[in-house]
Amino acid sequence: MSDALPEGACCASHPDTPASWMCARCGSFMCPGCERRTRPEARPMCPACWELRHQRIETNQGRSSGTALQTAGLVLGIIALVPMCVAVQLASLIVNIVALVRAKEPPASLVRWRPITGLALTAVGLILTLVTFLVGSA
Ligand SMILES: [Zn+2]
Ligand SMILES: [Zn+2]
Repeated sequence: MSDALPEGACCASHPDTPASWMCARCGSFMCPGCERRTRPEARPMCPACWELRHQRIETNQGRSSGTALQTAGLVLGIIALVPMCVAVQLASLIVNIVALVRAKEPPASLVRWRPITGLALTAVGLILTLVTFLVGSA
């Protein structure tokens, strides 16, 4: 055991049980019954840190679905650069606004430049459409 446990250290959740490990993350003591590991050879975590870790994994999954929307918005924005593709431009406008609104909600770490870039590209596409239309009708 690499961690030197203090003499007589007991589990944080079971005060009657001698501790076998120190939590790799927060340093609290735990008994064999409280050990939580990702892999058998990994250093154990206490139940509280294990819970935290799982919550973070769920948050990351929520994040990746937001990222997929942002990527879709960016791709639509690039396609929207083609003049007269009004349907794509409108779709791009909606997707990018939704992505931008979602980026403001937690987790706030979602990057905002993608929906903003998508919106900017859509705006350029709409202007090009307008110009093409005006030139064509003149
Ligand atoms: Zn811990
Ligand atoms: Zn315990």
